[in-house]
Amino acid sequence: MVLVLVEHRQGEIRDITFQMLNKANELAEETDSKVSAVLLTAESKDFVEELKPWTDEILLHKDSKYENFNSDIYEQALTDIIEDKNPKLIMIGHSAQGMDLAPSLASSLNLPLAPNIVNLWWKDDDLVTEREIYGGKVNSEVRFKKEAPYLVTVQSAAFEAEEAPGLDANLVEIEPSIEDSEIFKKFLEYVEPEAGEVDITASDILISIGRGIEDEDNMDIIEELAEEIGADISGSRPVIDNGWLPEDRQVGQSGKTVTPKLYLAIGISGASQHVIGMKGSDTIVAINKDPDAPIFEVADYGIVDDLFKIVPKLADLLGKEN
Ligand SMILES: Cc1cc2nc3c(=O)[nH]c(=O)nc-3n(C[C@H](O)[C@H](O)[C@H](O)COP(=O)(O)OP(=O)(O)OC[C@H]3O[C@@H](n4cnc5c(N)ncnc54)[C@H](O)[C@@H]3O)c2cc1C
Repeated sequence: MVLVLVEHRQGEIRDITFQMLNKANELAEETDSKVSAVLLTAESKDFVEELKPWTDEILLHKDSKYENFNSDIYEQALTDIIEDKNPKLIMIGHSAQGMDLAPSLASSLNLPLAPNIVNLWWKDDDLVTEREIYGGKVNSEVRFKKEAPYLVTVQSAAFEAEEAPGLDANLVEIEPSIEDSEIFKKFLEYVEPEAGEVDITASDILISIGRGIEDEDNMDIIEELAEEIGADISGSRPVIDNGWLPEDRQVGQSGKTVTPKLYLAIGISGASQHVIGMKGSDTIVAINKDPDAPIFEVADYGIVDDLFKIVPKLADLLGKEN
């Protein structure tokens, strides 16, 4: 059995859940086993319907304790479920929630943990995982010394989840034991980003700007293009360090991981620390005057030219079309 923890926040199942379920289905099929999605929630109805086509089974524990994520509560519930079901593999998202939960879960169950994996496959009944090291410059294969169950946390956008595989999950209600005396953390409040701010992780079209823009005064040509095509604007680290864009617009290793339908990289060289955060985009278009810029290795389409010539022309052309 492959167990996948359903991640949800503010009434929505996070994309990472479907990405993990997609991969879990593939792995389960290869070993003739099944996928169970663990749903710990205060409100279950819409979640169950949404999950049904993605998994063989939903293990549901409905309890008001889950209203807000608390790793102390999740850890107790999962410990119980894992001991009971003895899955071969447990998948948790490498998100703020997963990073809080997985290490202590691994420790309390004495499970081997491979964090932040970007791929995994069976080899002679053993699990092999792939992890990025040295800031994404090198990928390493990691195997477990111990026997299953294996625990992994999965990098956002490592796997696709465009279409549900059309399953019809069995719903199984469970009652894992949770001791209030073992809950040491307390949820205080959920802080929403201020109204009007852009969440680049949710953008469909992103124009990302790099050091090639040279000066903050030149940003207006990017803003014009963004307006013509309905894009949000993000950037590489030098642009953020220079204060030309707010911090929450940085894409990459020390910024955000984005997966828009279109990522337009303008004047960005394509350093590994940047690419790690955008390579999951559906279509990548790069504009750079250097034909050897590494960004062209990940781009689906490339324009080798001066951005100051190309960007206004693009805005003009696309503006006429709209
Ligand atoms: C620990 C660590 C974490 C990091 N985290 C991040 C991160 O999260 N995100 C991130 O982006 N970086 C990060 N970096 C920095 C990263 O290594 C690169 O330095 C950075 O991504 C480079 O940004 P850039 O591509 O905008 O600039 P540059 O590398 O300077 O590239 C500018 C590009 O613009 C092109 N160009 C210049 N003028 C024009 C023109 N007129 N027309 C067309 N093209 C032009 C050039 O050919 C060049 O390719 C990190 C580094 C470290 C060490």
